[in-house]
This record gives sequence, C-alpha cells and structure tokens, in this order.
Amino acid sequence: MKVAIIGAGLAGCALAYVFKKSGVKVKVYEAADKIAGGASGNDVGLYNPRFFAERNPESDFYAAAFALAIRSFYRFDDVGWNDCGALHLVTNGQKEGRFPKTVRSWQWEPEHMRMVGAQEATEIAGVQIKQDALYLDDSGYISPRKLCEFYMRDVDIEYEADIAKLDDVEADIVILANGYGAKSFVPWLPLSRVRGQLSYYTQGANSSELKTVLCYGGYCTPSIGGVHAVGSTFQRGEADLELRSDDDADNLSKLEAVVPKLASGFEFVKARAGVRTTVKGHFPIIGKVPAVENLYVSTGHGSHGILSSLMGAYLLVDMILERPLSLSSDTVQALCPSRFEV
Ligand SMILES: Cc1cc2nc3c(=O)[nH]c(=O)nc-3n(C[C@H](O)[C@H](O)[C@H](O)COP(=O)(O)OP(=O)(O)OC[C@H]3O[C@@H](n4cnc5c(N)ncnc54)[C@H](O)[C@@H]3O)c2cc1C
Repeated sequence: MKVAIIGAGLAGCALAYVFKKSGVKVKVYEAADKIAGGASGNDVGLYNPRFFAERNPESDFYAAAFALAIRSFYRFDDVGWNDCGALHLVTNGQKEGRFPKTVRSWQWEPEHMRMVGAQEATEIAGVQIKQDALYLDDSGYISPRKLCEFYMRDVDIEYEADIAKLDDVEADIVILANGYGAKSFVPWLPLSRVRGQLSYYTQGANSSELKTVLCYGGYCTPSIGGVHAVGSTFQRGEADLELRSDDDADNLSKLEAVVPKLASGFEFVKARAGVRTTVKGHFPIIGKVPAVENLYVSTGHGSHGILSSLMGAYLLVDMILERPLSLSSDTVQALCPSRFEV
C-alpha cells in the first residue's frame, strides 16, 4: 500500500509516525522547506484536554487523547516534555460553574483531576495564587516542533512540494494533513483561520519558583532553561505572520491580571506567530472524505493539536488498516468529515 500524506505539521507527522510503527511506508509532501514550518513550529506547547461539563463524544475524544499522550510521551526522547501539572484557574463565573461539573462528570481519580482551593493551588504552583483551580497532575508542556521532528525520524519526505491536486501524488491512499489548505481539495469543509502569537520572557525573581503550568485564558509555563513561554493571542480570520509587539504586551497583561507579581523582572526574548485551523463547532475533522475514493483528512486541530493529532493519527491508521477502532462509533461519527457534507 502506498500512502501519501500532505503536510508536515503535527497532524501529518503524527500520521507518519503511527504508520511507521505499523510497518507501512509513507511519503510526506510538505510545501515548506522544513518540518513544522506552520502552526506546529512553536518551541513550547501545552497538552491539555478540552474540557466539557458533560461526558459526550467530544469529551471522550479528548479524554482518550490525553491518556494516549501520557502513555506515549514518556517514551519519546528529545521532545522537551515535562509533566509538571497544570492549574486551570477559575477566572470567571463561567469557569466557576463548568470546572466542578467537568470534574464530577469525567470521574477521574482525584490524583489525576480535581478542584483545588487557592491555598492548595499556591502550594502546587510554588507562587501565590488567588483563584481556585482545576488541577491536572499529568498535564504539562512539550515542544511541538521537536515532537514533529521525533515523529518524522526515518520517514520519507519531499520538501517544497506544494501539492495543488491529488493527481500530483502517486499513491493508493492520500491523507490531507495540511491545515487550512485541506479546503482547496475539499471546499465544503467549514475551516477558518485564527492567528496567534506566543511570547517568551526571561524569568524574574518571583517566577523562578513557578512549578506548574498556569492556564487562565492565556498561559504561562514554568521557567524552561531560564525562559517562560507566555501565550497566546487569538485573531480570528487573520493569517499574516508578521510579529506584533501589541500581542506580546497582551500576553503579558493577561498574566499580570491574574497573578500580579509573577511577571516582575520579565525581559522579552522572542516571539513566534502561527495560524491555527479551526472548525465550526471547534472539533477537529478526522476521517474518510465522502464520495472520493481513498481520500482521508486530519485537520481543524485548533488550539489542542498536540493531543488531537496523535489520537487522530491512531484513528485514521486503524481505519485504513481495517483494525478495530479504539473510539466509540459516536465519537468517530462526531469527527467524521461527512458531518458537514452539503
Ligand atoms: C500561537 C499558537 C499557540 C498554540 N499553542 C498550543 C498549545 O499550547 N497546545 C496545543 O495543543 N496546540 C497549540 N496550538 C495549536 C497547534 O499548534 C495546532 O493545532 C497544530 O499545530 C496543527 O497542526 P497541523 O499539522 O494540523 O497544521 P500545521 O502545523 O499548520 O501544518 C500544516 C502543514 O501543511 C503544509 N501544507 C499546506 N498546504 C500544503 C500543500 N498543498 N502541499 C503540501 N504541504 C502543504 C504547511 O506548509 C504546513 O507545514 C497553538 C497554535 C498557535 C498558532
């Protein structure tokens, strides 16, 4: 079987990795001259499931993806992984209602997911926290760029291959893993673009004590070699990659608003902008494209691509190799492109 994967971001690289593990040779086609040149090129990213107040096909996907990531990441080498835990701070009334409901309905053991008061959050974080929080002990950060490089070891790739039509690749099976570009092959996919910028700052006197990731709408990692990743902005419908100093200020001010003294002494190091691909309903599109023979897609990974790309890769490889699927049929249906077909 000849498999072609279009796109070498997290989605395409994870697919190549899972095929490689299954003994199937693939070829990846990438428009840029390197791996992870698009949204997946950040030095640091968080892996957190998307929270839903109730268990449903969507939450089942992210719960399974989170468990899969934890089972997988500790075996990967040189991917900048740290399971330092994440505190999701209760910063508004909506989260005050939703987070405890999530904890109740997901029914994970308290050592894996629980609500903590501000006092316990302070002890966990190592810095003063004024909010209650949902705590995920197994969460943390990893380098998406290094993850892509790890996935792609010993995989055949053609760079500067901007595929315009399916006939341009010679394969029995083609998988679109090219973010927003999937639309040029399947125009009815309801994809949109959301620009984002991630900023990096040297640690200050207070922040060096931070032990866990903090999430509050934005996010701040513990110091990684003396530098914090502070993210990230959301600009719907925008796709330019020019860096904006306003975005760095915005990332910093969101942090200062929730943990006031943490950023004192921060000095700007660098920033990177990227473009997320999102979907109407904010759930990725992973499955077989209807009415086109042997065409599959993995896109719309939004802000949670670290988890959804790997889970999506296992799902697609199992489908293509006709193995049993590890997700329920409701979840497979919720991911399927045909949910949008016109
Ligand atoms: C600022 C920012 C912060 C983020 N933080 C996090 C985070 O903390 N945690 C998390 O889980 N996610 C995060 N994300 C989201 C995550 O990065 C994305 O979900 C993920 O990178 C999507 O991967 P992808 O492979 O679908 O897309 P991309 O990484 O964009 O890859 C698509 C690839 O396809 C190639 N391509 C396009 N068209 C063609 C074509 N016709 N032929 C050949 N190649 C083509 C492109 O060049 C590109 O390399 C963040 C994103 C941004 C922008």
